[in-house]
Amino acid sequence: MSEQRYGETAFDDLMSTVEFRVAERPHITVDGEICRSCTTKACVHACPANLFVPTSDGGILFNYEQCFECGTCYQVCNAEGAITWTYPEGGQGVVFRRG
Ligand code: SF4
Ligand code: SF4
Repeated sequence: MSEQRYGETAFDDLMSTVEFRVAERPHITVDGEICRSCTTKACVHACPANLFVPTSDGGILFNYEQCFECGTCYQVCNAEGAITWTYPEGGQGVVFRRG
């Protein structure tokens, strides 16, 4: 897999500066029924954290716990209603540490 870069920061370096406070309520939900009829599965390659995993029956497994809220999946998905996005509750979700 090619290395993804964010500005001058390699993705692995970026990920080493974050921690995830996993909320009980997923801030992104994915409608597996809509995904089943999706031919592009654009989210699978677009998500820099590889959180969308195609299943053998044509669906998608989604794991919100290591999502760092970049919004890319939401932008690349063309199927209306497939991805529902709400911000995590305060103090939860991704936390960027400095230094
Ligand atoms: S989230 Fe969107 S792009 Fe990804 S499989 Fe579902 S419908 Fe397709
Ligand atoms: S917001 Fe970003 S990290 Fe989270 S699931 Fe979507 S593409 Fe992946």
